[in-house]
Amino acid sequence: METNSETNSLATGYSLGDCHTHLDQYPREEIPEILGRANEAGVGFIICAGTTVESSAACIDMAQEFGPLYAGVGIHPMEANQIVDSGTYSRLESLARDNPKVVCISEVGLDFLPTSPDREIQFQVFREQIRLALALNLPIIFHSRESHPEVFQVLREEEAGQVGGAMHYFQGDEATAREAIDCGFYISLARPLLRLPELQDAARAISLDNIVLETDAAPQPFKKHRYNWTEPRHAQAVAQQLAELKGISVEEVAEVTTRNLAKLLSLEDRSALDSSPRSSGHS
Ligand SMILES: [Zn+2]
Repeated sequence: METNSETNSLATGYSLGDCHTHLDQYPREEIPEILGRANEAGVGFIICAGTTVESSAACIDMAQEFGPLYAGVGIHPMEANQIVDSGTYSRLESLARDNPKVVCISEVGLDFLPTSPDREIQFQVFREQIRLALALNLPIIFHSRESHPEVFQVLREEEAGQVGGAMHYFQGDEATAREAIDCGFYISLARPLLRLPELQDAARAISLDNIVLETDAAPQPFKKHRYNWTEPRHAQAVAQQLAELKGISVEEVAEVTTRNLAKLLSLEDRSALDSSPRSSGHS
């Protein structure tokens, strides 16, 4: 990430990456300010994940406009209301293949809340998108809620470890973390690390070499104060908490987790390949 941290000239002495957000759900005019606050908190690059075909296109559009943003293409399990037929597969494929700022297949996975879409459809949608990730050699950043055994089974059956990726918004225990790592995935930690003791134990137990950071930032109108809405800048608090739990410096957390994420997303290969001019996204 040398190139990126230099071009972004972060306000801190370290560079963090936020591997999962939904910044496309914020009004476009707020993005420069959000990126400015991220920069002040040392967050150098941010992935914006799609939840539908349309929002995947919106994430790509934003990533093309703002230098620190990258995009994920995917259909979220909560949006998996119909199977991925050949038409939808082709649309996802062309979005992911034709844009240098697409770095992963995301947000995909399974969600077994009672109100979630039909499970058979979710399985089909998840599997098709893993196949797409394998065909395009892109990592998978996945969602799992009340569905960990099924997610791990699908990842193994589809040999998703060939591309790897991250288990997003991880809130499980150490055994769950170890299983995700064994499937070939990083553990992505977010703000719950600040308050869940079991998650703190898991984070202490697993190696920093298996961890990346995220915020899952999206508008949160249910929170009274706009100031409290999660933004990429909050990755700094997650990094500080992790540093405290592991008894190391925040600089070391930043160095290792950012290296992990850059490697997982092949960002260095991409900046070498992508010579198109980029705006800095903030002034
Ligand atoms: Zn998400």
